[in-house]
Amino acid sequence: MKVFLSVDMEGIGGIVSELETDPEKGGGRYEESRRLMTREANAAIEGCLDAGAEEVLVADSHWNFDNLLSEDLHEAATLLRGKPRAYSMVDSLDASFDAAMFVGYHAAAGTPHAILDHTYTGRIRDVLVNGSRVSETGLNAYYAGHFGVPVVLVTGDAQVAAQARRLIPGVHTVAVKEAVGATSAKNLHPRKAREAIRAEAAKALADRRAVRPLKARTPVRITVDFQGTEHADLASFVPGTRRRGGTRIEYVSPDFVEAFRTFLAVIYVARP
Ligand SMILES: [Zn+2]
Repeated sequence: MKVFLSVDMEGIGGIVSELETDPEKGGGRYEESRRLMTREANAAIEGCLDAGAEEVLVADSHWNFDNLLSEDLHEAATLLRGKPRAYSMVDSLDASFDAAMFVGYHAAAGTPHAILDHTYTGRIRDVLVNGSRVSETGLNAYYAGHFGVPVVLVTGDAQVAAQARRLIPGVHTVAVKEAVGATSAKNLHPRKAREAIRAEAAKALADRRAVRPLKARTPVRITVDFQGTEHADLASFVPGTRRRGGTRIEYVSPDFVEAFRTFLAVIYVARP
């Protein structure tokens, strides 16, 4: 059995502020976050092994994708590290995997009471797939779904867990913290968070057939609403996109892989 494990940092237990997730400015606080992130990744890997997984590919999915401490990562896993990756947080996920898990994830941009809410970049206000608002969890789950791979576990704060359950019936979740503001939360003790993640990862993998891969209706219509008109000006340089008002662009792709590829090009180009 083969598991794809994407690990972000904002949704790791104990982490609440951008300084703690910023490799350039964070200093010692960022270094501590790397340790917490690596230990939560290990808890998920151990849960996968408990449930009989033979292979776990861990995709470091935060900032420059080089946060996890290679030496401290569980030796049963293979680490996908660094940039660029054409498909970002879910690059290298394909039909050979039995399940996907998202650990340390965060809620969609604009979610109240959610730690460091954003969707791929701070320049985005909203992303819609066929008219419905999605988070990073949603975008990445649709990508996995294209290959027939179900997302069986999502961990992070209470809001990302709730958003995942609304989108993916049967998904297992662990809320390691409950936000009281965008950069403040009540946190489980890291050890408790890891115990819960390990137990839930094992259950989620055992129950994987109860979760349907998330399939986007095709052709796929993607709408991106940016924070500013300048972002939309730049994004509309990407062929196939159409301007829909001051801050919005829209495009239609034949399938979700193409839609996601164009989305990543759009956000890459939209940097003033
Ligand atoms: Zn991140």
